[in-house]
Amino acid sequence: MIIYGAKDVHLKTVKSTTGICPNCKIKGELSINIFRRHAHIFWIPLFPLWKKGISECSHCKKVMKYREMPESVKLEYQNLKIKTKGPIWQFIGIILIIVLALGVTAMNKFGSKSYQKEKLELFASPLKGDVYEYEIRTGKYSTLKVKHVSADSIFFSPNNYESSSLIRLYKINKEENYSDKIYSMSREKLKAMYTKGKIFGVKRE
Ligand SMILES: [Zn+2]
Repeated sequence: MIIYGAKDVHLKTVKSTTGICPNCKIKGELSINIFRRHAHIFWIPLFPLWKKGISECSHCKKVMKYREMPESVKLEYQNLKIKTKGPIWQFIGIILIIVLALGVTAMNKFGSKSYQKEKLELFASPLKGDVYEYEIRTGKYSTLKVKHVSADSIFFSPNNYESSSLIRLYKINKEENYSDKIYSMSREKLKAMYTKGKIFGVKRE
């Protein structure tokens, strides 16, 4: 359950210099109060919505909303409303959201960078048992398993299965799916495939 709503925060109270209380007719007893409303979610302020105000008579305690205020008090209220700044903490939710979004973006970037580096390191030093993920043709993917490594060539057995999904490619990476036949490819040719992105994944158990 998401709990959300709005809350008014008191910003300022000043005495009206012009107002006469319409209720008790006494002058100099009206005060103007400015509030700023903010939206909140789980009681964390998200962002401010708008300012509002009331006047209160300290003599007869009559409270008036904007539309009930005498014209001169309305004017004072308008001027005060423009000048009165709300607290920055009413933005805390939206600031948190921005900071979190930036953080997540930075972490993704960093994560993918270190993944690329790791992949390159694995590819540069092949070992028996490494699995290469490669594109057979557009939209079709499969894997190769390294069986033997020599100075200038890599020997591998191909997977008998293919997948049209990159995400589910790991599912065909089972020992029994690999062919008994062994093929060799020069390191140079493999490197060219890697550079072109034909080989796009290197897995080591
Ligand atoms: Zn009054």
